[in-house]
Amino acid sequence: MLRVRDLDAFYGPSQALFGMELAIEAGQVVTLMGRNGMGKTTTVHTIMGLLPARRGTVEFEGNRVEGLPAFRIARLGIGLVPEGRQIFPNLSVRENLVAASANRTGRPSPWTIARVFEFFPRLAERQRNMGNQLSGGEQQMLAIGRALMTNPKLLILDEATEGLAPLIRQEIWSCLGRLKAEGQAILVIDKNVSALIPLADRHHIVEKGRVVWAGSSQALAGDKDLQHRYLGV
Ligand code: ATP
Repeated sequence: MLRVRDLDAFYGPSQALFGMELAIEAGQVVTLMGRNGMGKTTTVHTIMGLLPARRGTVEFEGNRVEGLPAFRIARLGIGLVPEGRQIFPNLSVRENLVAASANRTGRPSPWTIARVFEFFPRLAERQRNMGNQLSGGEQQMLAIGRALMTNPKLLILDEATEGLAPLIRQEIWSCLGRLKAEGQAILVIDKNVSALIPLADRHHIVEKGRVVWAGSSQALAGDKDLQHRYLGV
């Protein structure tokens, strides 16, 4: 579904990605893990066309997308839940979802506001509250709901549970598990190795702008030294 090959990206003169490699098949949950500042967000931004690729390719469903403007990449069916959530603070929960609801993918969408509310009953309860009146967990649920309203084939979460209370984290993980059970492909960035091992099919550890290790959940779970060295677990 998504294949990133030999990707380099820069901020001005400063190189942030050095031959990044990544692949996600349909229906898979795949992770990017690694310490702060290693290039995970930069990878996502380059995939989404928010930062230009200096070298390398990004293929989505067999088509090269590097160099396309971000809105076109999004319309092909990649939905981003950005770091920091970035919901509209002065719109209600429902209005935030309506604002995202134009399905521009050319495919029928299974996602309606009612279905997002079924997925996140807490959002239904809070539907008339403004974005800035929500807790961090509710904001993250809204950010996920908003991305789903765009009918993504691939959902990308940058820092899926950062700064959330443990119980709320559990809710986010269980939501991602339900999405996976429905066949949703997901690329997830997070530091919570123990939650990601049962959820994901494949993991990538990113260090200084490149993948230094990639493998299955079983391989990651069995390698404590690797977890300690790169993930500080
Ligand atoms: P975090 O979890 O902290 O977001 P990350 O792995 O997502 O970490 P990136 O945000 O992709 O890391 O950062 C990779 C490198 O690029 C870092 O050295 C960072 O300082 C640098 N960088 C990120 N954003 C910018 C920017 N807007 N301008 C210049 N350098 C940047």
